[in-house]
Amino acid sequence: MLSVAKELYLSAVQLTPRRWLNLQEYQSKKIMADHGVAVQRFFVADSANDALEAAQRLKAKEIVLKAQILAGGRGKGIFNSGLKGGVHLTKDPKTVEQLAKQMIGYNLSTKQTSKDGVTVKKVMVAEALDISRETYFAILMDRACNGPVMVGSPQGGVDIEEVAVTSPELIFKEEIDIFEGIKDHQALQMAKNLGFQGALQQQAADQIKKLYNLFLEIDATQVEVNPFGETPEGQVVCFDAKINFDDNAEFRQKEIFAMDDKSENEPIENEAAKYDLKYIGLDGNIACFVNGAGLAMATCDIISLNGGKPANFLDLGGGVKEAQVYQAFKLLTADPKVEAILVNIFGGIVNCAIIANGITKACQELELKVPLVVRLEGTNVQEAQRILSDSGLPITSANDLEDAAKKAVASVAKK
Ligand code: ADP
Ligand code: MG
Repeated sequence: MLSVAKELYLSAVQLTPRRWLNLQEYQSKKIMADHGVAVQRFFVADSANDALEAAQRLKAKEIVLKAQILAGGRGKGIFNSGLKGGVHLTKDPKTVEQLAKQMIGYNLSTKQTSKDGVTVKKVMVAEALDISRETYFAILMDRACNGPVMVGSPQGGVDIEEVAVTSPELIFKEEIDIFEGIKDHQALQMAKNLGFQGALQQQAADQIKKLYNLFLEIDATQVEVNPFGETPEGQVVCFDAKINFDDNAEFRQKEIFAMDDKSENEPIENEAAKYDLKYIGLDGNIACFVNGAGLAMATCDIISLNGGKPANFLDLGGGVKEAQVYQAFKLLTADPKVEAILVNIFGGIVNCAIIANGITKACQELELKVPLVVRLEGTNVQEAQRILSDSGLPITSANDLEDAAKKAVASVAKK
């Protein structure tokens, strides 16, 4: 079984919107179109009426209506309005309006979202094309290869996860030398592996090269196209798009980062990000206030081991300032599900006195109403203990991590 820390770590990694810029499909497709990648014509709408108008303006034989959320698996998702499927095909603009009514303002849950799903605020109204074959194509930065890798499968579409499990031989990988770029024969080989035939091979290879150029130019860490499809008329088209970006490239990708859609983040996560705090909300009732990601995970783990449930993962980081301590405390105490706070600080780089001052100030100003268990260790710990005891605050101090977790769990159980 995975430890809680491991699960947490994995979920932290999967919470991509927090760490990496994440764009909606329509935004990604706009960037793709600007780079000469083949996508269908589309409009974006945020009301059923706008969706109707967009559908009429498209003048397409068939229309595809797609809910815009930052998660995949929409095709097989379900709305809390009862509507099934986040992707619908129709020939009638009136139907687009009806469907959009059951999408916008409702939550769409897919196998990549939480149970409650994500509220749909926008829909994409696009020209639908017949798809005769759906393949999968992606380019990503791969740590194991120290560079970009192309991944493709001739069996793309909504069941790609299953293909990866049941027929791994149908997943093709090809490393790209970042200095030399993608070679013609590599792109063509991938097109062949994806099962494109005849003239479509060259067309697919061209799209692959364009996608790679885009990947480099926009500092992406991943460009995923599923389905990368072909039409009966003999076109290779990118029907879906998922692009992730390298946050370290923000300084040279200002236009793209300005498109950042934070509306799907928890408000508290956005607030925490403003102060450079790494915060992930969890569903327990013991708030954790910790420095260092490893210690934060260990703290969540040990709370669980002692029968409690962490309310969050919070990493203050190394160079923490008193103002950040204050803000972090404010965030934790504003969370209505928090019934106790556990402070676990190991002062290596961090000076414990800074933490103690921040806590004291926050507790006095915010009139702390829940039990506070504090374990401090390391640099300047004596001074920190003195600050806390002089404050007169009702603080339970703990000797070590285990002791702190037990006391925090007990303080909640008493209620
Ligand atoms: P998701 O990956 O979130 O489920 P997709 O955009 O891949 O969403 O759409 C799901 C399925 O809907 C695709 O695999 C494809 O079969 C179909 N589809 C998507 N876009 C179009 C389109 N423009 N024309 C026709 N079919 C489409
Ligand atoms: Mg898809």
